[in-house]
Amino acid sequence: MADCIFCGIVEGTIPSEKLYEDEHVVAFQDIHAQAPVHILVIPKKHIPSVQDVGEEDGFLIAHIFSVINRLAKEHGLSEKGFRIVNNCGDEGGQTVYHIHFHLLGGRTLTWPPG
Ligand code: 5GP
Ligand code: ZN
Repeated sequence: MADCIFCGIVEGTIPSEKLYEDEHVVAFQDIHAQAPVHILVIPKKHIPSVQDVGEEDGFLIAHIFSVINRLAKEHGLSEKGFRIVNNCGDEGGQTVYHIHFHLLGGRTLTWPPG
């Protein structure tokens, strides 16, 4: 997708600190980390937001969660816990319209969000 930052990261035309990659998914460090661990997990497929997820994406979404679990273990978050965030739409705080899941951890995270 032209002009999509995260498609650029998938293709390697925009630099990123990649932590995991396979046929379907890429995970990389968030450029403005909000916690000691702040990783973004995205599908290589350009899906703009959660509102564009269909039944045909079932495998992909399950796979993303499996990759998140793997990253959480690798970063020592499994015992203490972590948070998975998806912002959807303008009022949901979404700024990049290529679906992504934030994996946050390494400190106590407050709730509810602002
Ligand atoms: P959103 O607000 O859409 O849920 O999250 C977008 C996230 O992408 C933000 O946390 C922001 O810091 C991160 N981000 C935006 N542009 C870039 C970039 O070029 N590289 C990386 N690594 N992260 C980015
Ligand atoms: Zn994209």
